[in-house]
Amino acid sequence: MRIRRLKLSGFKSFVEPAELRIEPGLTGVVGPNGCGKSNLLEAIRWVMGESSPKSMRGGGMEDVIFAGTAGRPPRAFAEVVLHAETAQRDDGTRDDLEVVRRIERGAGSAYRVNGRDVRAKDVALIFADAATGAHSPALVSQGRIAAVIAAKPAERRAMLEEAAGIAGLHVRRKDAEQK
Ligand code: ATP
Ligand code: MG
Repeated sequence: MRIRRLKLSGFKSFVEPAELRIEPGLTGVVGPNGCGKSNLLEAIRWVMGESSPKSMRGGGMEDVIFAGTAGRPPRAFAEVVLHAETAQRDDGTRDDLEVVRRIERGAGSAYRVNGRDVRAKDVALIFADAATGAHSPALVSQGRIAAVIAAKPAERRAMLEEAAGIAGLHVRRKDAEQK
């Protein structure tokens, strides 16, 4: 799966609608401390169905809604739109995917996929693959980087294989060799 665009509105520090285009290749996000770099990663996790407020650095899920500042009132909702292309099929084709998650104060989260209302469960299914979900080892939070560096070579290799989505291949290769 390739993430192509991310739109945020009222999500954490992104109070005004903001759009991020992710072109093929390497994308870097730079900025001073507290400008919202980690919030971007959390937005990706959140729209993919993250259900733990703790892993969003909040006490409750509504804490993702812009809380207001001295000069700006709080927002009533937060919304994140993720545009992605699904993994390539054998014939080379891909599908476009648009996932929207919105939370309103007192009303909980609602999801839409390609314009249709869906349940959280349906979104979880889309991202069920270990390599793409909210808990994917491909999404490494700040602080976890130290753990990757400190890991033993075999552990680090396992993390990278998980992230690349090839973790199951060794088992299948062994299996094939024995036949
Ligand atoms: P660093 O370089 O220190 O890691 P960063 O760019 O990763 O910084 P973030 O942690 O993404 O920064 O952003 C933190 C900012 O987001 C803080 O200023 C915090 O006040 C703001 N923030 C977080 N949640 C909300 C919210 N619900 N409403 C308003 N602002 C919020
Ligand atoms: Mg950060």
